[in-house]
Amino acid sequence: MTTAQGTTAHPSDDLSRSVIVVGAGPTGLLLAGDLAEAGVPVTLVEKRPHGISNLSRALVVHARTMEQLDARGLADELAETGRRLRSFRLFGGLSLELGSLPTRFPYILVVPQYEVERLLERRAVGAGVRFAYGTEVTGLVQDADGVTVEVATPGGGESLRAAYVVGTDGAHSAVRELVGLPFPGRSAIRSLVLADVRLAEETGSALAVDAGPEGFALVAPFGDGYHRVTGWRRGDDRPDSDPVSLDEVREVVRSALGTDFGMHDPRWMSRFHSDERQVPAYRVGRVLLAGDAAHVHSPAGGQGMNTGLQDAANLGWKLAAVLNGHAGEPLLDTYHAERHPVGRMVLLVSGTMLRGALAHGPVSRALRTVMLATAGRVAPAWRRGAAMVTGIGIRYRRPRGAHRTVGARVPDVPLAGGRRLYEALRGGRFVLLAPAGLAVGSAADGRGGRLVVERWSAPRGTAVLVRPDGYVAWAAETATVERVREALDTHVG
Ligand SMILES: Cc1cc2nc3c(=O)[nH]c(=O)nc-3n(C[C@H](O)[C@H](O)[C@H](O)COP(=O)(O)OP(=O)(O)OC[C@H]3O[C@@H](n4cnc5c(N)ncnc54)[C@H](O)[C@@H]3O)c2cc1C
Repeated sequence: MTTAQGTTAHPSDDLSRSVIVVGAGPTGLLLAGDLAEAGVPVTLVEKRPHGISNLSRALVVHARTMEQLDARGLADELAETGRRLRSFRLFGGLSLELGSLPTRFPYILVVPQYEVERLLERRAVGAGVRFAYGTEVTGLVQDADGVTVEVATPGGGESLRAAYVVGTDGAHSAVRELVGLPFPGRSAIRSLVLADVRLAEETGSALAVDAGPEGFALVAPFGDGYHRVTGWRRGDDRPDSDPVSLDEVREVVRSALGTDFGMHDPRWMSRFHSDERQVPAYRVGRVLLAGDAAHVHSPAGGQGMNTGLQDAANLGWKLAAVLNGHAGEPLLDTYHAERHPVGRMVLLVSGTMLRGALAHGPVSRALRTVMLATAGRVAPAWRRGAAMVTGIGIRYRRPRGAHRTVGARVPDVPLAGGRRLYEALRGGRFVLLAPAGLAVGSAADGRGGRLVVERWSAPRGTAVLVRPDGYVAWAAETATVERVREALDTHVG
């Protein structure tokens, strides 16, 4: 279909329902897969040629991300490819335990980012996402009906059109710049060295991390014989383009951990810098931003990819509901309202962790040790911290007058018939958790593709409507069919 300003991303697309996602990193892959599974025509535009991998940056997948992957049938397969760490050692010999986190995934999974992308790409292809590799977005104009995107391809320039565009094109987002959004913030750390190496000696702890006056280092096992080494040395301020040698990595690690574990055979080495920045608006009309395009921060706490994947999980079902005519456009504003504060919190947490690791001088380092030791002894403080870093403690704001659980993450509760909630969420549907004895049949009628009704052993006869991303949309104790119908009309459409 040709319009005044360009062609839809695919000839068979209905312009009023189509989406262009820009950037096939983890955020774009998850989002595009969710949209396509919901029947939305989606084109994923990526400037890299097909087969050229994104960089292997992230190494940690947290519990809430595993839950989101579980809701897409991917978590168990990913867990098989990585190494599960239920506890790890922090600065000053403090050990952090994750084994008692209230989730099916009480660990951090150490796995290269490309493994996460491989699974998400396979799912997106299966769901019908059209990939346009070797295609770089260079221009963008929006009007009342849609967005026209200019792209450069090996065959020359083209213009594509869709109802919405989502920029998941990373820290240097062209989409962000083209809609004129600033990216305020500051530099966090420079000359961070990364390497994937083999070790001749055991590290003694699954994940070795420590910081001395001269810098810090972290050594984590991928489970395939290689370890990811990340390190930084005070006063070593070099540009990213400066080549990294194995000797340099050895020295950085020795100065923080006292040994280099006999590292050898690097398969990849790189130098990075990172900033702390966040865009002030996640939505400008028909253009939305997610992942590193919306927020960047230091790698401390392993939050970047995890936060981007949670952005995508929050946005996907909302955009699909609007495009499929089941919700009005204001639902899209809740994406910014819910995810911007989370991005801000992540910047704060990772910044605090980074500054803790960089603490210089005996007084600040002693303070860091005391603070960590205190937090480690105060169970509620530690549990809260672990819940935020792993994502399972994140909740969205509850509207005034709503049930106290609205906006909270729903744990993977068992359902009648032996299934689990996160299995029932597969397919991007709402799940109504109904107590036995509440005949909701007529209220649920006609919403088949968007809603599944499940029975659970409900505390106080509570009915809960779970959003496709696993948060409470609505809940009522001693619910009636009329109240359920009203809730379904409001939230499921
Ligand atoms: C050293 C380091 C360690 C890290 N460790 C962790 C960790 O343990 N856990 C964690 O969660 N995160 C970690 N991160 C962060 C994580 O790597 C990023 O947050 C994540 O890659 C962001 O995903 P994304 O999909 O938003 O963007 P990206 O992965 O950057 O993907 C953006 C995509 O857009 C494409 N693109 C860019 N511009 C255009 C354009 N104009 N047109 C078309 N395509 C375009 C790019 O080619 C790219 O494929 C780490 C980062 C670093 C640097």
